[in-house]
Parts: sequence; structure tokens; C-alpha cells
Amino acid sequence: MIVILKKSITPDEIDALVNRIRAFGVDAQISEGTGQTVIGLIGDTTKVDRCSLQANKYVERVMLVQEPFKRANRRFKEENSVINISNKTTVGASALTMIAGPCSVESEEQIVGIAKEVKRLGATALRGGAFKPRTSPYSFQGLELEGLELLKIARAETGLPIVTEIMSTSMIDKFVDDVDVIQVGARNMQNFDLLKQLGTIDKPILLKRGLAATIEEWLMSAEYIMSGGNDNVILCERGIRTIETFTRNTLDVSAIPAVKKLSHLPVIVDPSHAAGMAWMVDPLSKAAIAVGADGLIIEVHNDPANALCDGQQSIKPEEFGILVDKLRVIASVVDREIK
Ligand code: PEP
Ligand code: MN
Repeated sequence: MIVILKKSITPDEIDALVNRIRAFGVDAQISEGTGQTVIGLIGDTTKVDRCSLQANKYVERVMLVQEPFKRANRRFKEENSVINISNKTTVGASALTMIAGPCSVESEEQIVGIAKEVKRLGATALRGGAFKPRTSPYSFQGLELEGLELLKIARAETGLPIVTEIMSTSMIDKFVDDVDVIQVGARNMQNFDLLKQLGTIDKPILLKRGLAATIEEWLMSAEYIMSGGNDNVILCERGIRTIETFTRNTLDVSAIPAVKKLSHLPVIVDPSHAAGMAWMVDPLSKAAIAVGADGLIIEVHNDPANALCDGQQSIKPEEFGILVDKLRVIASVVDREIK
């Protein structure tokens, strides 16, 4: 961080400012140019209150030279993080993670049937919402606790780890006991109380990008979880709001290489919520793998026309199978594999 000083500042005031900066626990180095004096802050600047420095009447401008996220930063850890989501499934290693399943758990027959099919066709984990963040309070809200029980049955029948969304801090203990990956949905990406509490456990967290979040805000949300001690964060790009209305959201393909450069955390893509249309899941999935995503989370339903949630963007198991076979070819081009 660099603090650019106004020309009117006196030596005594510079000393006072340096003392204030040092009180944040960082060192301050003064550099006097011909017309401009700047103070360089060295050390852990995460605890420095930038706004209070900016409010000082002798400060012209405060500039960041490093990203504000630290533990999530690739400068902090150079090698890619690999997250274990079960005793034989990882995210971030050379094998891509293929998470598939319905938007919502609807019945035992539905979730177990889909789980068996997607497993046979190449899925490495099962998704299914039990607690659903619906835009309308009148829409199906999920089977809630019963949904979690049905997911556990599907896991027992197939061995697939289960990924499901948490909506409330009050459910954390239950999710720690019952699920393999806790999903934080786009709408909760900046629910800081939830993020902080998820930082105190060691379960993998699938952190979806907020509907209108910048990459930096998304990585700062990962930082909330990691700063509490939970480094098991998997990022998920699921499309953002833009001026375009043809698709449900706009898949930010460039976010994948950007995140890979900025962070060591794995990043997967949700083409279903990005597109909002089943036919577009295929091309967006291919694009995601081609640009370096560590995997996909795809909505798959046995009967999309009668799905209780997001049927319009759900593909059928047989379509998932055809897609996975095509993705194997793309994966090999980017030095990845689908097991
Ligand atoms: C979901 O995965 O079912 C979901 C609601 O996703 P998002 O939070 O990305 O909208
Ligand atoms: Mn959905």
C-alpha cells in the first residue's frame, strides 16, 4: 500500500502519520521525491484501515499495490490447492470434477435414480438442493431436512459425495454431519456471518460467485472463510448479471483464467444457472473446460418437463453422458482427464 501525501504536509505531521501507520503493525518507509512525498507500507497491510488514512487531510491518495485477499492469493501459495471431497474424490487435481444432479431433491426414487445414472455416465459427485433459495416465496422451497436424508440414501447407494446448499448458520452442525461439500449459493456470497462461521469448520465449501460480484469481491468472500482457518474453498463461476437478457446470466468465461492467475483455489463452472437453457449447457461446458476450469456442476433431471425447479435448464442423464464423452477430448487438450 502506498500513501501519497499532499505538498502542504509538514515534517511533524509526516512523523505523526508514520506513527499512526506503524500502530497498524506495519512498517512505513518515507520516500521524498522533488515534488511528491509518499509513504510505502510494508508488511501485513490487511489490518490497515485504508479509509481512515484516506480521511487524513494531508493524504492525497491511498493506492493498493497488492490485492486485498491474502490467504486466497497465489502470491501466498504458489501451487494449486487440491481439495478432498471424499476419500477418493478431489477438486483441483488433474482429474476434472464432474458434479451432476437435479436442482432440487424431489423424492427418494428421483434422487437415487438420477445418482445411479450420472455415476454410470461419469459424474464424480452428486448435487441436489434440499434448502432452495427461490426468488418467489410461493415457489417450491425444497424438502429441507427430508431432502438431506434422501441425499444420504443416494450417497449410500452410489458412493458419490453429496453437494448441497446451506442457507442458514443454524444448519451448520447438521451439514457438517451429513454432507460432503457445503454449497454457498450466489445469493449468500456476501452473507458474511455465514462465511465467518463456515471458516471455523473444515468441510469443503463450494462458494458460488454472487449475481453481481466482481472477481475481487468473490475472492474476498473466500478470504472470509479462509481467514477463519478453513482453507477448503472451491470457487464456482455461475454467470453474472449483465445487460444481456437472452441468457439467464452471462457466463464470465474470462473469470476462470483470471481466478487461476490470482488465486491457488480450484474453480469450477455451473453452465446450467449461467445459461438458463438446457441446450446451451453443452457449449458452455466445453468452453469452461477449454479455459481451464477444474470441473463442472450441471443440473441433470430424469424428467425436466416436470421438475419442481429449474427444469428448463436441466439436461437428461443420457445428454449428460454424451457431453462427458465430448469433454474427455477437450480435457486431454488442456492436460486434464475425466476418470
Ligand atoms: C443452485 O445451485 O441450485 C443455485 C440456486 O445456484 P445459484 O446460487 O448459483 O443461483
Ligand atoms: Mn437450480
